[in-house]
Amino acid sequence: MSRARRILILGSTGSIGVQALSVIAQSDELELVGLSARSSWETLLEQAREFGTRRVALSDAQAADHAAGAWPDCEVLAGSEGVAELIVESGADVVLNAIVGSAGLGPTIATLGEGIDLALANKESLVAGGELVTALAQATGAQIIPVDSEHAALHQLIAAERATAGPGTIERLTITASGGPFRGMSREQLGSVSIADALAHPTWEMGGKITIDSSTLMNKGLELIEAHHLFDVAYDRIDVVVHPQSIVHGCVALCDGAVIAHLGHPDMRVPIAYALHHPERVELPVARLDLAAIGSLTFEPVDLETFPCLGLARAAAAAGGTAPCILNAANEVAVHAFLAGSIPFTAIAQVIETTLASIDARPLAEFEALFAADREAREVARAALDQVRSVPDRA
Ligand code: MG
Repeated sequence: MSRARRILILGSTGSIGVQALSVIAQSDELELVGLSARSSWETLLEQAREFGTRRVALSDAQAADHAAGAWPDCEVLAGSEGVAELIVESGADVVLNAIVGSAGLGPTIATLGEGIDLALANKESLVAGGELVTALAQATGAQIIPVDSEHAALHQLIAAERATAGPGTIERLTITASGGPFRGMSREQLGSVSIADALAHPTWEMGGKITIDSSTLMNKGLELIEAHHLFDVAYDRIDVVVHPQSIVHGCVALCDGAVIAHLGHPDMRVPIAYALHHPERVELPVARLDLAAIGSLTFEPVDLETFPCLGLARAAAAAGGTAPCILNAANEVAVHAFLAGSIPFTAIAQVIETTLASIDARPLAEFEALFAADREAREVARAALDQVRSVPDRA
């Protein structure tokens, strides 16, 4: 037997990180070599003890101090430099990036720059810096294996098609959307939804930020941009369809009219295990699909008027350059404000729209331009927050 594959998990205390640890615990072929988190140092140390690793990083320096004091035998790296050091010195075969938001971009760059394969659960890395990130992966020969369920599905479908039929046979891609907790509601009804309502996702159990993104459909907008970069398919050939059961994760339409689809119960351990073991497959203790028991699978178009975020994402994608980075940063600021109870749900889209309209997108030549665009967009979005706080939603 060959040696175990060495895995480093970034963002290990979040929903994806915890599920990834359960996948690693069930496999003899995966070995954990390090962990990182933002500030949840107690959980991080518990995980490190359980999995026998003594190398961790906390991007919050104060949390790193607490952790170092609590466990002197553990090497605790601090700050974003500490996370980068953890990556570069890990000797990992695969880095799972499960950090939330554009804070994951730096670690994505560090991983790919080292030529280490990246299991990517941080879609914001590709949204903000898609061209530069994929070019870096090509330059170093590192692979990007998506952990997002729709993209993991498409990755499998496309790999199978290209292996058998070669290039040029794929016409369109479809990613499915559950529609979130507010599917079927009117714009007026959305004006009074609460934080708890938005966090009650009907099919997927996920972290707070992505659950809000699912409720606004911005998650599909980010996923559209992610799919474009991962699979090099033009935006006008990528469709989004609402599928409330979340059983079909993605479809690939071929030149002969055939459409191949990927199905399974919504369970993130499946795409996580796929990415960590790729190209191998392993048995997983997840629910098996029984189509007769499910009975019916339904599909409907996205209500773009009630959920404007998907349209905003398509517009930013079409503008290109720094526009998707601006979109993403504004969304992060707006979602954060909504979760803090300081703006209403419908103001999320308003903040993003105002921010996009206030900043001219620029061409993207180097990573520094991305970080600058991210900072500028956050400032403009914070100013836009003050506007929506003082003006009630008139839509
Ligand atoms: Mg997804």
